[in-house]
Amino acid sequence: MSDITHIDIAVIGAGLGGAAAAALLNKAGFAVHCFEQAPEFTRLGAGIHIGPNVMKIFREIGLEDRLAHIGAHPSHWYSRDGRTGDYLSKIKLGDFAVKEYGAPYITIHRGDMHAEQIGALEPETVHFDYRLTDLQEREDDVLLSFANGKQVAARLVVGADGINSMIREKLLGPEKPRFSGWVGHRALIDMNKLRAGGMEYERCVKWWWEKSRHIMAYATKADGSEYYYVTGVPVEGGWEHDTGFVESSKEEMEAIFGDDAHPMVRGLIDATTEVTKWPFWNRDVLSLWSRGRLCLLGDACHPMRPHMAQGACMAIEDAMILTRALQQTGTGDYRTAFGIYEATRRERATKVQTISNANTWLKQPEDPAWVYAYDPVHAPLQDSVA
Ligand code: FAD
Repeated sequence: MSDITHIDIAVIGAGLGGAAAAALLNKAGFAVHCFEQAPEFTRLGAGIHIGPNVMKIFREIGLEDRLAHIGAHPSHWYSRDGRTGDYLSKIKLGDFAVKEYGAPYITIHRGDMHAEQIGALEPETVHFDYRLTDLQEREDDVLLSFANGKQVAARLVVGADGINSMIREKLLGPEKPRFSGWVGHRALIDMNKLRAGGMEYERCVKWWWEKSRHIMAYATKADGSEYYYVTGVPVEGGWEHDTGFVESSKEEMEAIFGDDAHPMVRGLIDATTEVTKWPFWNRDVLSLWSRGRLCLLGDACHPMRPHMAQGACMAIEDAMILTRALQQTGTGDYRTAFGIYEATRRERATKVQTISNANTWLKQPEDPAWVYAYDPVHAPLQDSVA
């Protein structure tokens, strides 16, 4: 890396959005490098849904078939009453999604997906152990300084650095994200252990209780051998821990859900071995998506509670639209490109952010086509807001 002093585009953060941005910008012919603070990525215990809206982008990157092969293909998103098991909604996915929305709907381990994303990048363009600590906006470029002592000058900088984004801080000033008052427990479950109880578990089901308390459970592998759940639980007070997550326990799960849980939920709790607890953070809708040579995408720009399963999908959609805007204008006219990007993304990302935070998505029968049928690869770009 020491010989690189000037690059076209620096993507800060190689998370789900940053890795997509790097792949798409590279494919579009831009000289792009991605800088990630972590020394490496590990397979953290969590799943993720990827909608057809984003599988179309993975088709562009060349990963659609691979991810479809690894991930599970739920036939429906079921919503069920957590006590009685009654069905509140049955949203068709599976073959219906392929036919109606133009690509599969998958659920997958996020570590498996991320590993595929990183593996698809040119190795010499991804730089681990590069934590951005400072930046200086100059006449012709931005000088980036990293914790490892390296400096890089980039003509454009994409802040894909997540909810605590340093690029966001540079644009809008320091402001900590707000604790949403909700936590999520996350656990990976061995499906064979679950099946031993004699019940057949649906591949994607959200169990609901009063006050929108819930457990979202789904398969993370094509063969159905791994199952995952994430809860949403409102709590009193703030998040008192210094760490990003803490250990939880089967006992805590029983205390929250056990008393009035359907036998299938009880089975899920019984099969729990390790479970962790995560705070859900939030920010208000941002007033600024870019300034000068800096722009934001994903959680750096529009973090949300995860209840629509579209946070990463929005980050990856951002990456696609940003790439198309830059393709249209070239990097020289980046102001127009950033204006097109914001004009095309703001309304949709804000709508998803709002509904996701409200935690109402697919609880009742509704048509999800506006989310899943959207095609970020071909949808019209809006005129620049600039
Ligand atoms: P991140 O994935 O957070 O990546 C940011 C990256 O930037 C990280 O790798 C970080 O190390 C790096 N970074 C940060 N600061 C610096 C720095 N100074 N220098 C260099 N690198 C830096 N979304 C879905 O689409 N579907 C789901 O089913 C879903 N389920 C979820 C469940 C839960 C419980 C949660 C909490 C979220 C869920 N999401 C889901 C949302 C999704 O995880 C996020 O929206 C997504 O990860 C955002 O991607 P990002 O690239 O913007 O940020």
